[in-house]
Amino acid sequence: MSVITVKFGGSSLADAEHFKMVAGIVKANPDRRFVVPSAPGKRSKEDTKVTDLLYECYRLSKEHDMPGFEACYGKICDRYTSIIKGLSLSFDISGELEYIKKAILMRAGRDFAASRGEYLNSLILAKYIGYDFVDAENVIFFKENGTLDMDLTVSALAFELKRHENAVIPGFYGQMPNGTVKTFSRGGSDITGSIVALASKSDIYENWTDVSGVMMADPRIVDNPLVIDRITYRELRELSYMGASVLHEDATFPVRNAGIPINVRNTNKPEDPGTMIVSSAKAYDRKHVITGIAGKKGFSVITVESVMMNSEVGFGRRVLEVFEEFGISFEHLPSGIDTMSVIVATSEIEGREDRIIRSLKHSVRPDRVSIENGLALIAVVGRGMVKAKGTAARIFKAVSDANVNIRMIDQGSCELNIILGVDENDFESAQKAIYGEFVK
Ligand code: ASP
Repeated sequence: MSVITVKFGGSSLADAEHFKMVAGIVKANPDRRFVVPSAPGKRSKEDTKVTDLLYECYRLSKEHDMPGFEACYGKICDRYTSIIKGLSLSFDISGELEYIKKAILMRAGRDFAASRGEYLNSLILAKYIGYDFVDAENVIFFKENGTLDMDLTVSALAFELKRHENAVIPGFYGQMPNGTVKTFSRGGSDITGSIVALASKSDIYENWTDVSGVMMADPRIVDNPLVIDRITYRELRELSYMGASVLHEDATFPVRNAGIPINVRNTNKPEDPGTMIVSSAKAYDRKHVITGIAGKKGFSVITVESVMMNSEVGFGRRVLEVFEEFGISFEHLPSGIDTMSVIVATSEIEGREDRIIRSLKHSVRPDRVSIENGLALIAVVGRGMVKAKGTAARIFKAVSDANVNIRMIDQGSCELNIILGVDENDFESAQKAIYGEFVK
């Protein structure tokens, strides 16, 4: 018998109807022994996530006379009581709600307040599906410096989970050495799920959300992009870095190192197989040469020009030192024999342009330094591209047919990605063209 850890996102647990779907999914496979829920998410576009309401209540609790605190907390109570009612559960949650309210008012802390969304959702789900409740506070531990204490956490969790046939473990939070509650950053239930999968030696970590997997392109740009059936951790990292939002950035590391695949699934369409995120996959097991496309706007190019730069030892180092001094990390470094360009996020240099130019002039005495904004980067990613001939040609032809000028090209030496820099105005059309070229 295998073991599966399942994590459900906030939209999968937003109301009683979704709780019923979640229960159906969990019960459909007895291997789904460990369940990690998020807090109730939005029920509609205009709705507010319970986590956001909790942050708001905390903020209001600190204001003089606490205007709106009661109303805000009332909304949270309504969310949970309506879920319980919709599930016809005989579970009186009023004591918990009262206790949490008092604790927030007595300054139990911002993280404590935020964490209660997952805590309460897990209590309800555990009752509803008849699983044990294991409080994350007792099994997820942070170090003094706020980072996760992985060794302690995994050993405590492994020990605890052995004692339960089935359990619900709230996502998003754990305990600091001084006993207070601390949360991960937003979306952190993904991390809890990954750690639970690792500690329970799960065969699969299923991450249930409201889309049928990782898509080949951004659906806001490309109409109905295909879902990627199988993607490697490395490919996913490339796409996520360039803006594809799938899982919390830190969620893949625990399972990745242990070789546990992540299966991204859709709670609203459980029959869809979703995307398998795996450590390694054959290059040619995909129908398409590319695995996916992602991109981000908001980059600037700083070009340093100096005749004979190529023969001047230490030139590059001195240029980069300037960026280091300003605490700016760079994205790409395209260069020619007499020019070196540094591509950075515009937000990193905003308001400091003149000082940066002055420093560069002082440090490398260039012939010319310029800054150009409005660059968008597009990453075309795919293990199928490695050693495959003609992929770059197809990308460039498609982009040129769409009348888009390419301002920068970069290919990682692993050949897993090709990055294009285009004008922000061409951001959408370039991605559509590339997608259309590879997905016919
Ligand atoms: N509820 C938290 C948030 O909204 C954590 C999570 O959903 O993963 O960020």
